[in-house]
Amino acid sequence: MNRLDDKVALITGGARGQGAAEAELFVKAGAQVVITDVLDAEGRATAERLGAACEFLHHDVVSEDDWNSVVETIVALHGRLDILVNNAGIFRMVGLIETSLAMWQQMIDINQTGVFLGMRTAAPAMQANSSGSIINISSIAGMRGASVAHAYSASKWAVRGMTKSAAIELAPSGVRVNSVHPGIIDTNMLDEFGPMRDNIESRIPLGRVASADEVGKLVLFLASDDASYCTGQEFVVDGAMTS
Ligand code: NAD
Repeated sequence: MNRLDDKVALITGGARGQGAAEAELFVKAGAQVVITDVLDAEGRATAERLGAACEFLHHDVVSEDDWNSVVETIVALHGRLDILVNNAGIFRMVGLIETSLAMWQQMIDINQTGVFLGMRTAAPAMQANSSGSIINISSIAGMRGASVAHAYSASKWAVRGMTKSAAIELAPSGVRVNSVHPGIIDTNMLDEFGPMRDNIESRIPLGRVASADEVGKLVLFLASDDASYCTGQEFVVDGAMTS
């Protein structure tokens, strides 16, 4: 089940956190995985830890040139691209009134425009083989309002909508597109909560934050042919926070 033999995957923001956990699960499932990130040292260390089936490339998801170069390199090295996980993202806990235009723009650039560039650049490589799976990492902040993270919520709602539009457009060429909506996941991103981090678990019906692996297993399913009829949908993994 959920095997990825002979598949080539690109995971953005894969140096650490959920991206690194997904890379490990993908490698174990038989895929050739390219992780990309702006954190070069951490990215190289993660790729080294995962062995020959994992490579690291420097990649800023905001850069159109970086996207072109990463996808061209993958196709040149491996002959194909089957899976894209648009995972790179940033989170700032700032409400509407305090959000500066610069912060808004940075959030939209990385979390939303990065996903647009990724889908637009990777899709033709997938269409060449009449198959592919794109998984866009949104958030529960893309399922409901978030009073303390205005720009983040805007970017994650956008990813949810872009996913559906791309899924309809790419379905005839065999490329599936889905969004994943994690709740509170135990990664460096939680540092943004500061002292509030200690109280987070009391707000989660399941009573604990999730490990990166618990999101990764859902992403692995969506990447695999087991999810062959799943496209254009949002998949929530949040311990009932949005229930
Ligand atoms: P993380 O901070 O550990 O990982 C994010 C990664 O994205 C980092 O390696 C970072 O360097 C990379 N990144 C940031 N800007 C980039 C850029 N411009 N180009 C390339 N890479 C860049 O946090 P995480 O929890 O692993 O986050 C992964 C995804 O999950 C993000 O999209 C995040 O918004 C989403 N998410 C996280 C949580 C959570 O609770 N941790 C909840 C919901 C959604």
